[in-house]
Amino acid sequence: MERVDLKSDAGNSDYYLKDYLSGKANMDALRGEMRLNEPMGKHTSWRTGGMAQRYYMPADLEDLSNFLQRLPADEPVYMIGLGSNLLVRDGGVSGTVIALHARLNELELIRRDQAGGTIFAGAGVACAKVARFAALHQLGGAEFLAGIPGTVGGALAMNAGCYGSETWDFVEQVKVIDHDGVIRLRKPVAYKVGYRSLRRIAASSAGVKEEWFAGGFFRLENGDEMISRQTIKRFLTLRVASQPLNKPNAGSVFRNPPGDYAARLIESCGLKGATVGGAMVSLKHANFIINTGRASASDIEALINMVQESVARETGIHLKQEVHIIGEAKENGRLS
Ligand SMILES: Cc1cc2nc3c(=O)[nH]c(=O)nc-3n(C[C@H](O)[C@H](O)[C@H](O)COP(=O)(O)OP(=O)(O)OC[C@H]3O[C@@H](n4cnc5c(N)ncnc54)[C@H](O)[C@@H]3O)c2cc1C
Repeated sequence: MERVDLKSDAGNSDYYLKDYLSGKANMDALRGEMRLNEPMGKHTSWRTGGMAQRYYMPADLEDLSNFLQRLPADEPVYMIGLGSNLLVRDGGVSGTVIALHARLNELELIRRDQAGGTIFAGAGVACAKVARFAALHQLGGAEFLAGIPGTVGGALAMNAGCYGSETWDFVEQVKVIDHDGVIRLRKPVAYKVGYRSLRRIAASSAGVKEEWFAGGFFRLENGDEMISRQTIKRFLTLRVASQPLNKPNAGSVFRNPPGDYAARLIESCGLKGATVGGAMVSLKHANFIINTGRASASDIEALINMVQESVARETGIHLKQEVHIIGEAKENGRLS
């Protein structure tokens, strides 16, 4: 990993200016941190994967907007939060990974009325923090977020959920930013919200190539701090009992098919404990794949494919992946 000092006139910033920002940039305007060849295993919950060619951590939303404005239009951009639903192939990512965790970090009670209140949370805020903040402000409904080990941006992108609630149940509007650094507000009607899935509907996409979440406004009902805290505690206890939290993993690998559970299907095919290299189908929860120590991303991906094919062969059901896979395969197979 190589650090680039964005503010320096010498050395790395020459590279940065010439090869990366096409000479357009006012370096002083950028306040974030740039790293080159950053190992993504440090930033994903599976603790493995290739390198990001460029890895930028913006200082805040204004800095992110400035940074995006300076990017070449054809630069591939991957926005990430805590990497808890992400596999980066061993060959790495060519382009720029932008990491928002603890960067777009605003957390505010925007409005309070008789029925409840609205919280704004920046995309980089950890979900657990939102759950605790809501409880503290006597607002109920966000308790489920306590056990989701991702960010608000990731939760919005995935429509993360558990124990009967989903992120988009509570969204009043979202703040988004596009590849040109333009910031907009969008209402939920701009999206087709599904189970662990979300896509922008065509009518609101006119002329906009790609955009990401900068934050969300969440409408919550009146609650009680003590009850919320007890609910959070109960949810976390349930997780510890049912999930292999002592080994690197990315939560549920597959979405549940309609009317059934991916874990039940995988277990019924005798796949608990199945391995490829250092990747193993968890003995505790069959829809989790754990890194037993030295799994490469290709071990994990091969095991995902093996499980998918076995379940399809034996049950006729095609499991759809919940985890997102990015980057290129390493040409010579497994890392040593
Ligand atoms: C132990 C464990 C338990 C889990 N339990 C649950 C659970 O109960 N329910 C559940 O739904 N998930 C669960 N997950 C999965 C994961 O935590 C969620 O999907 C979470 O929402 C991902 O957030 P993240 O910030 O880590 O996103 P990342 O993994 O960093 O990214 C996931 C995807 O979202 C995109 N993304 C991230 N940030 C943004 C942004 N700002 N704008 C646009 N796109 C963005 C990324 O490009 C990527 O495609 C679990 C994971 C683990 C490890």
